[in-house]
Amino acid sequence: IQNIVIIGAGQAGGWAAQTLRAEGFTGRLVLIGDEPHPPHERPPLSKAVLSGAALPESTRLMKPEAFVALGLDWRPGARVHRIDRATKQVMLADGDAVAYDKLILCTGGRARQLTLPGADQVSLHTLRTIEDAQALAPALDAGRSLVVVGGGWIGLEVAATARQQGAEVVVVETQSRLCERTVPAEISEHLLALHRAQGTRVLLGAGVSGFARAADGRSEVLLADGSALRCDTIVLGIGLVPNDELAREAGLECEGGVLVDARCHTSDPDILAAGDVAVAPNAWAGRRLRLESWQNAQEQGIAAARSALGHTVDYQPLPWFWSDQYGMNLQIYGMPAAAHRVVRRGDEASGNFVLFYLAGDVVQAAIGHNAARDLRFARRLIEQRKPVDVERLADLATPMSKQ
Ligand code: FAD
Repeated sequence: IQNIVIIGAGQAGGWAAQTLRAEGFTGRLVLIGDEPHPPHERPPLSKAVLSGAALPESTRLMKPEAFVALGLDWRPGARVHRIDRATKQVMLADGDAVAYDKLILCTGGRARQLTLPGADQVSLHTLRTIEDAQALAPALDAGRSLVVVGGGWIGLEVAATARQQGAEVVVVETQSRLCERTVPAEISEHLLALHRAQGTRVLLGAGVSGFARAADGRSEVLLADGSALRCDTIVLGIGLVPNDELAREAGLECEGGVLVDARCHTSDPDILAAGDVAVAPNAWAGRRLRLESWQNAQEQGIAAARSALGHTVDYQPLPWFWSDQYGMNLQIYGMPAAAHRVVRRGDEASGNFVLFYLAGDVVQAAIGHNAARDLRFARRLIEQRKPVDVERLADLATPMSKQ
């Protein structure tokens, strides 16, 4: 292999590039990304970077010297507009063509937009990039009002950061509970109580029918019940659209993202994919998943790089996700399901608790609130598939290390 091309210089692309060099690949390595920045992590963009507590530069995956030392042909601000599989080249928007022996797609996703009546009369913020965070930050100051459309992770993190900056915040969620797609009802309840206690107004089961500009120049979010929420700023946190168009147009199999196997291979053996754009089999879930998480961007980026070099790879991680809101840290290991028995360790009032999700007496998933240490042991229990004693699991007097 002489030439490896990575499309997308985000977290997965950055890890793929580092790993290729760490594994001894000395050929030409081209990293093409349409953002002007070197590879960076996005989680702080809704947290410390948004609040101003951290600088955008602090999100970089590598120190500048380490990045330069990789000896990449880095193309910042460059967009790939076509993959030519027959000639094994990628075509850049500026007309340049770059040849590959192996191609790794790390194109991530973009924030979903809402095309409802009046959308062109107001300015609708979304949050994916450093520039998005910089544009939104001034809108969170004390005395400003914000409506967040969408009660998922990004919406809730923006709401929490905004409240902490002193803004008035309303969260509008169409579903009957928060983070409905990713957590069980008891955690949705917990999040709802947390946000309401901090003074955020949360409207559940509330459909947005459009937007308008009020006579005073402020924005309005129009709700399906005929009411309107007037505010200074509107943020949409309604999910991600995978950037799989390049792959689809090149004839690769896609299904809500680029389909890959556990070796990160797409339907073309010379093209791999990783990160938010990839849909991969997952033994823990018993189905294919497109994971939108920091863990997956890093680990699948590494796996794809190793696989491209011919190493044996079987990437099927135990899913792990975290969120920080109002100084609270929530972590989820595994895939909690409605059929699981729930065992609680610790109580909500004390602020530290873990919920375990069991099938029989085997822990399948765990969600913890300010319980990072216990969760590390929980992860081990899940991965070892070891039967547990439910009473001991719930008993705070029995340390997690002794389960
Ligand atoms: P990205 O980081 O999106 O990188 C893809 C890159 O490819 C982008 O730069 C894109 O512009 C570029 N690109 C796309 N198409 C082309 C093209 N044709 N040509 C050139 N370049 C292209 N996860 C957690 O686990 N915990 C958290 O608390 C958390 N918080 C988050 C907060 C925010 C605000 C966001 C946005 C995400 C958060 N995540 C969190 C998710 C995590 O950041 C993502 O899963 C991760 O960034 C995905 O990495 P990626 O490399 O797949 O995609």
